[in-house]
Amino acid sequence: MNFKELGLNDQMLEAISFMGFEKATPVQEKAVPEILAGNDLIACAQTGTGKTAAFVLPVLNNLTKDHKHETSVLIIVPTRELAIQIDQAIQGFTYFTPVQSIPVYGGGGGSDWDSEKKALTSGADIIVATPGRLISHLNMGYVKFDSVKHLILDEADRMLDIGFYDDIIKIINFLPKKRQTLMFSATMPPKIRILASKILTKPKEVSIEISKPAEGVLQAAYLTYDTQKTPLISSLIINKPELKSVLIFSSTKLKVNDIVRDLRKTEKNIQGISSALDQTKREEVLSDFRSKKTRVLVATDVLSRGIDIKDIDLVINYDVPGDAEDYVHRIGRTARASSTGVAITLVNEADMFKFKRIEDFIENEVMKIPLPHVLGEGPLWNPKQPPFGNNRFKGKGNNQSGKKKPFFKKKPDNRNKKKD
Ligand code: AMP
Repeated sequence: MNFKELGLNDQMLEAISFMGFEKATPVQEKAVPEILAGNDLIACAQTGTGKTAAFVLPVLNNLTKDHKHETSVLIIVPTRELAIQIDQAIQGFTYFTPVQSIPVYGGGGGSDWDSEKKALTSGADIIVATPGRLISHLNMGYVKFDSVKHLILDEADRMLDIGFYDDIIKIINFLPKKRQTLMFSATMPPKIRILASKILTKPKEVSIEISKPAEGVLQAAYLTYDTQKTPLISSLIINKPELKSVLIFSSTKLKVNDIVRDLRKTEKNIQGISSALDQTKREEVLSDFRSKKTRVLVATDVLSRGIDIKDIDLVINYDVPGDAEDYVHRIGRTARASSTGVAITLVNEADMFKFKRIEDFIENEVMKIPLPHVLGEGPLWNPKQPPFGNNRFKGKGNNQSGKKKPFFKKKPDNRNKKKD
């Protein structure tokens, strides 16, 4: 569907075309008309689906129609990276309009605090804030939120995982009762439903189909320290002639070489493939694996999407993939076309939180198997949020730091923006 059919005004259509978007994504198709109609909304959509534009575009549509230069939109997000990312997306869409936004998040210096304070008292159109920092401002008594018309909670499930429930409720008590509330979440556990029932009014629901692993895949995980990983893989594949095809995934091409080198001590019929190989060599390695000449292949995610290799008996994730869709694609290499297969993931302490988020995404708790006795004890299952900024669950469209590159240079005006 094109954007014109969604009912957006000409100014928005111009911004969309300037951004180079041609067609609306499914979440945009479903959410934009509901938001334009003034409904509250609960949307289940992951990063990478175009969810930011799904809520930003219709809200901006209203703002540009009737621009008053007061705080009209409050967007609450779990992390500073997401606050910056959404603010940058808004800057892209509002480049040719007078609409202003400001990100409000902790960790900056005093000048950030002052510019945030100025925006929160004199009114920036859109505030994109993390809960803790916003509460610090609210506690000072100067924040003016009586003109807020749209409240958006993004990555609501993650905010509850972090423990922001009370903060969210506290912030909402500062907002007018009459407002539109939109809640976006990658997953819909019961606690999200409970929050939705408290803060949304007769919400419409939008859900984007998430890819699920094929039925025939038996999924399991081992909790391991890094030093236990190679001996564990050896023990899983050695003396098992019934495993004719074993595919091991690693997140980085550097690790591919290390894994191949270490496993070669016990498994001679092993090859590695990553973008480090040239195209001819890659095809050769793939062809040997496809024809079962090579028994064990160690690969980066290059191989997880699209390439159709049949009858892989065992997929091993040497580490937890950076995003849940990659996990589904990786384990989808086994049990293709309704055959059965086994997918095993090795989860170290640092990856437990990421793995828990994958379990939430696939709506399935993966069985954790005890390590073989000879390898000793592994770490205990403790999927707590890692220290800030470390090992963050990354969605599509994000770069390594979890931040998106800015779409444009900053607006050349005197907005109350933070300095980069
Ligand atoms: P998000 O899910 O909001 O993080 O968006 C993921 C990426 O998709 C971002 O880089 C957006 O700029 C891009 N995007 C969003 N909507 C569209 C669209 N309709 N067409 C093309 N790209 C889009």
